Amino acid sequence: MNIHEYQAKEVLREFNVKTLKGIACDTVDEAVSAADKMGGSLWVVKAQIHAGGRGKGGGVKIAKSKEEVKEHASNILGMQLVTHQTGPEGKKVNKLFVEEGCDIKKEYYVACLVDRATGRATMMASSEGGMDIEEVADKTPEKIHTVDIFPETGLAPFQARQLAFKIGMRGKAINAAVKSFIGLYNTFVAKDAAMVEINPLVETNDGDVIALDAKMNFDSNALYRQPQIVEYRDLTEEDPAEVEASKYDLAFIKLDGNIGCLVNGAGLAMSTMDVIKLHGGEPANFLDVGGGATKEKVTAAFKIILEDPSVKAILVNIFGGIMKCDIIAEGVIAASKELGLKVPLVVRLEGTNVEKGKELLANSGLDIVPANDLTDAAEKAVSAAKGA
Ligand code: ADP
Ligand code: MG
Repeated sequence: MNIHEYQAKEVLREFNVKTLKGIACDTVDEAVSAADKMGGSLWVVKAQIHAGGRGKGGGVKIAKSKEEVKEHASNILGMQLVTHQTGPEGKKVNKLFVEEGCDIKKEYYVACLVDRATGRATMMASSEGGMDIEEVADKTPEKIHTVDIFPETGLAPFQARQLAFKIGMRGKAINAAVKSFIGLYNTFVAKDAAMVEINPLVETNDGDVIALDAKMNFDSNALYRQPQIVEYRDLTEEDPAEVEASKYDLAFIKLDGNIGCLVNGAGLAMSTMDVIKLHGGEPANFLDVGGGATKEKVTAAFKIILEDPSVKAILVNIFGGIMKCDIIAEGVIAASKELGLKVPLVVRLEGTNVEKGKELLANSGLDIVPANDLTDAAEKAVSAAKGA
């Protein structure tokens, strides 16, 4: 689960990471009065969406007067902001963050995440702040420094100091950076984050170190013990189909292709997507309805696929173990009766109650393309999606 920059900064402040004054706003008038309230003579108007790269896309603007705050706020609020992380359709901006302008001497990058190789938290920092870190990793990997953190000790002050030195900090900034790095690590652990990224972390002309941006992603398995983070959830930022799926506890991820997939078991769902791709098709989603799904759950899952306008064919691939094939058939039929089945439906059923399931489908009056095995099913779904 992701949260907005202004929320991430609230969390960081609790852990002594310095940020600037800022106010989250829903309207242009609120943005202007926020600038008024904060005072000063330089403000930054920032789009709040769950994606990075906002600056390059025109979602971060500096204002030197209240008139400019008003102008930028009107332009950004409601815009369809396109960044390298939103996809070409972009994301609509519903919220702004008006922040004090910062006197930047140098921008750095710092993040805390889990390193799968060591199985431990890692802090990663670079002198190349404000840039796309993937690009830095690709072109100048020597400019990225990492510290492996032992869970028993946490990030030790000497490690934080070394890291600050390695990325080129000197003098007074080092102590300020040590405080920020330790705060960042403590945030990461206390909030069950999967990733906390500050890009840029800036050094000011008086040697202060400040988080100018903040991105956080949380382990959804730990949300049950993170009520504050759950409060921050912004459903308007999430894919509506994924939100609907989460209500039914379905493992669903929207993808870019046009073949809707209804599968049981995560492994089978992954291999179904692989076989679709192998035959030249593109899956529209990952969906694992799970082992003991009820008819209601299967119906909800199939409805989500039917409602996706990009779906040109559907592939139901079920290996009934704990899951019974007749339950799947009932769900597919119920959802199709309610919403209508407008695209070809390829069904491959095997396992528990397969005969009963096939019979239900055959008598349903639905136009179904039966398939004998996974290859057959994938070939049929791919050619159906191509309109063959
Ligand atoms: P994104 O990473 O989504 O583009 P950032 O918050 O990192 O958004 O903002 C982009 C750039 O805008 C930063 O690298 C920084 O140079 C500048 N910036 C952001 N916030 C401020 C601020 N409060 N004062 C001055 N400059 C800022
Ligand atoms: Mg940034």
